[in-house]
Amino acid sequence: MAYKTVNPYTNELVKSYPDATSEEIETALGTGYKLYKQWRDESVASRAVILHEIADRLRENENELAKIATIDMGKLYAESKGEVELCAIIADYYADNGADLLKPTPISSRNTGDAEILHQATGVLMMVEPWNFPYYQIMRVFAPNFMVGNPMILKHASNTPGSAEAFAKIVQEAGAPAGSLTNLFASYDQVADIIADPRVQGVALTGSKRGGQSVAETAGKNLKKNSMELGGSDAFVVLSDADVDKAVDLAWRVRIYNAGQVCTSDKRFIVADNLYDEFLKKLKANFEKLVPGDPMDPKTTIAPMNSKRAKEKLQGQIDKAVAGGANVYYGNQPIDLPGQFIQPTILTDIDKDNPEFYDEMFGPVAQVFKVSSDQEAIDLANDSELGLGGIVVSADPQHGKAIAEKIETGMVFVNSFLVSLPELPFGGVKGSGYGREMSQLGLNAFTNEKLVVTAQDPDWNNPAGGLAVFK
Ligand code: NAP
Repeated sequence: MAYKTVNPYTNELVKSYPDATSEEIETALGTGYKLYKQWRDESVASRAVILHEIADRLRENENELAKIATIDMGKLYAESKGEVELCAIIADYYADNGADLLKPTPISSRNTGDAEILHQATGVLMMVEPWNFPYYQIMRVFAPNFMVGNPMILKHASNTPGSAEAFAKIVQEAGAPAGSLTNLFASYDQVADIIADPRVQGVALTGSKRGGQSVAETAGKNLKKNSMELGGSDAFVVLSDADVDKAVDLAWRVRIYNAGQVCTSDKRFIVADNLYDEFLKKLKANFEKLVPGDPMDPKTTIAPMNSKRAKEKLQGQIDKAVAGGANVYYGNQPIDLPGQFIQPTILTDIDKDNPEFYDEMFGPVAQVFKVSSDQEAIDLANDSELGLGGIVVSADPQHGKAIAEKIETGMVFVNSFLVSLPELPFGGVKGSGYGREMSQLGLNAFTNEKLVVTAQDPDWNNPAGGLAVFK
């Protein structure tokens, strides 16, 4: 049994879940495909009521759902509650706007006829999701595609099966037809078989480069459209005109939220040399105040990491960085608690030849760099194999925006958290993957952008041009 909840605060095995059977997989595919056909004859708007109901039930069950997520993967209870609310916001948004956003798009064409693009469903989707936001990651794909009419099969991370089951239950209890979202405790081989099945027409994965490469390879081999939301080593650029107190106040929150296990949590802090010493001192002061403990306890401000494996991986990366010449400015001391804690840590002096220079550190570790010009900041921010997000801090928003435009990532925020909202596209470039989730772009990620041209009164002696010209 690969799927297990092991509470990362107590290390207790809470529950194991049985592996998916071939029969369950066939039922998921069959039910999903039947529903796809049924949905094609129904209006998009007809699904909005159920999506609102899902939002309502998420809110009604917020405490219970939050507890399940916290026990599954250790995040602070307050953060879990915030995640449930965000899921409800996303569901409401697509319920309110999905039908409008999916209206056919007219094209002004020559005199061929009335041309329009229909945004139609394509079939069943395979969704592979990570543990770090165990509900929100599902909702980013679920809400838009539910409105589109693409039924979904979910393979969640093996350490968040409780959250996967709870999400699927909410969907079912809200009245969504069978097959709308089927959670399967599937193996990698079973996921590959599902992707290869002709009833499946798309694959959405959020996760690591390793997982993305493997699933994208299977999708490519089977010519299935796919979107890849992968890792990030985002830059947090503090320009020389920034207010250092404001910059630090944003920086420590960004790095510590979700115990630092956020793809868009800035991992590289690139600070102008006139502010560098003060930035470090104040970042350390904020890290020192953090209180590790039970994530269910409101007094706790730094949660354990999601698993023993994740903690060991991050500790190994810190050790490698230090062996490669990095300086531990703060942290990297053991925490005397049984859970999977890493003390918030600040690393400096990471040279380009440090073995960790290009690695994503997925936990509460801040790498801080000093630069002497805007151009140096831009070059360092872009010296990355990844390209997900980023933040620029400046006293002058226009100055910040000018720098943001030069950063090679999918999203950059100026003087703000990198917020995720349903109307904003989410995704990256380079090794951070391709495609976008949410917004109009995410809504259309797995639609058939189908051209329909309706000629009103064709005159074959005076064709409009193009390929089919016979005189
Ligand atoms: P991961 O190992 O790739 O796991 C993510 C999901 O993919 C899990 O469900 C995992 O299943 C599954 N998976 C991995 N290899 C697979 C394969 N060959 N076939 C089928 N499924 C496979 O990722 P992680 O390390 O746990 O997650 C953290 C990473 O995700 C970080 O790099 C982070 O930056 C990235 N992330 C990106 C975004 C974004 O939107 N861009 C958001 C959040 C996280 P198992 O659990 O069973 O292995």
